[in-house]
Amino acid sequence: MTVPNPDPSERRQPGMAWDFSTEPELEEQLRWMRQFVREEIWPLETIVDDLSQEQLERVYAPLQAEVKSRGLWAAHLPPELGGQGFGQVKLGLMHEILGTSPWAPNAFGNQAPDSGNSEILAMAGTPEQKERWLHPLLAGDLRSAFSMTEPEVAGSDPTTLRTTARLEDDEWVIDGHKWFTTNGSIADFLIVMAVTDPDARPHQRASMIIVPADTPGVQIVRDVGTMEHPTVTSFGKLWNHAEIRYEDVRVPAENLLGERGAGFLIAQQRLGPGRIHHCMRWLGVSRRAFDMLCERSLYREARGGPLADKQSVQNWIADSAAEMQAARLMTLHAAWVMDTQGAAAARQEISLIKFYGAKVMHDVVDRALQAHGALGYSTDLPLEAMYRFARAARFYDGPDEVHRESVARLILRGYTAPPDGVPTEYVPVRREEAQRRFADILEAVTAND
Ligand SMILES: Cc1cc2nc3c(=O)[nH]c(=O)nc-3n(C[C@H](O)[C@H](O)[C@H](O)COP(=O)(O)OP(=O)(O)OC[C@H]3O[C@@H](n4cnc5c(N)ncnc54)[C@H](O)[C@@H]3O)c2cc1C
Repeated sequence: MTVPNPDPSERRQPGMAWDFSTEPELEEQLRWMRQFVREEIWPLETIVDDLSQEQLERVYAPLQAEVKSRGLWAAHLPPELGGQGFGQVKLGLMHEILGTSPWAPNAFGNQAPDSGNSEILAMAGTPEQKERWLHPLLAGDLRSAFSMTEPEVAGSDPTTLRTTARLEDDEWVIDGHKWFTTNGSIADFLIVMAVTDPDARPHQRASMIIVPADTPGVQIVRDVGTMEHPTVTSFGKLWNHAEIRYEDVRVPAENLLGERGAGFLIAQQRLGPGRIHHCMRWLGVSRRAFDMLCERSLYREARGGPLADKQSVQNWIADSAAEMQAARLMTLHAAWVMDTQGAAAARQEISLIKFYGAKVMHDVVDRALQAHGALGYSTDLPLEAMYRFARAARFYDGPDEVHRESVARLILRGYTAPPDGVPTEYVPVRREEAQRRFADILEAVTAND
């Protein structure tokens, strides 16, 4: 008999009430964040390309001070590390607001990759590592980068990594080639994923090692141009993605982060909450694009009436609203599972939202862009930038295909093939069984005939 996995909706804790309301104090903070991001951060977007990294930091300083004074700085971390200990549901609601602008998280001390790196350091760092790297990172005095992906092998299968680290005279000696190390060219330190135990089982071969960026042998080759930033006009700027060569890079043995061989484990623990934050930020992007779609439909006239009267546009609006609502509830549910049952219990939910949320953002932005025609394609609106941003979401932090595969595997674990090859629902067999079970009644009916 096939016993399917419980549906996600059945995996709630017994006795817990369903509640979609937010506490008044949090609601007030969220309201403040909405206004702050809209009034202080959105205007930045239009001049950010004209600013150097140093000017950018000057612009951010008072904004960051204001966020700190509101008690909203580094909210992803527990209070003993200077964070707010929000938990994933509250953080999700916050990230939905910050996601409306790529420049907002930096004002709140929870911008990727620093936020994920601080989580790794908080989780796996020694007291000395926390003192030297985590505390200044949280204070905004240091910048970090996470250096895992390599151009030569599949980033979606990190068991293929080639960068190595060998222990020699109490030092790790690192050799390898990485790229897409976000903020690598402005980082003070890099967390490098390297193979330390090549003969171990595939998921126990790699470790994380802290490498100060000025260590001899760390060569920042270039900042890579991307679909999001086709021409990298300024080297060493926030959100650039660096190509880096590590050649005979030597760091002390105590720079190992966590256990030797625990690189994958730590990466997985970092990625779970990170994906929830990504998905909520994508909803912020979607919402902004959706608002533009609705506004456009009311003022643009074509063939005798506004776009709002055309059924295709009505479908875009209705479909987008439904998909955003679905993605939002799925993401908050995944956050709730993580808060109440832990990261391992939320694996399936997180994979679901990662590929579903990326598609929702992509499709909503695409419809808004379509509704704006040439204006949407132009740089006179932020839609074209959102579209380029949305494209990458389908493969970073695990491509769609890998997450779908993972969801399907987890679901299929709850099923078994019928031993005789006959489907459980096969009607002829079920009819025979029913005829046997209800033989008396069927006979009486036949007799009456
Ligand atoms: C904006 C951005 C920021 C990034 N920041 C960082 C960073 O800070 N640090 C870092 O280390 N990396 C970073 N990356 C790199 C990112 O993590 C990788 O791009 C990602 O892991 C995919 O690896 P890959 O590019 O090597 O693609 P590959 O692994 O080569 O995959 C290519 C394609 O193969 C297909 N595929 C792969 N596996 C399967 C499968 N099982 N079934 C079916 N199809 C499959 C998918 O279509 C996939 O998109 C960043 C990337 C981007 C775009």
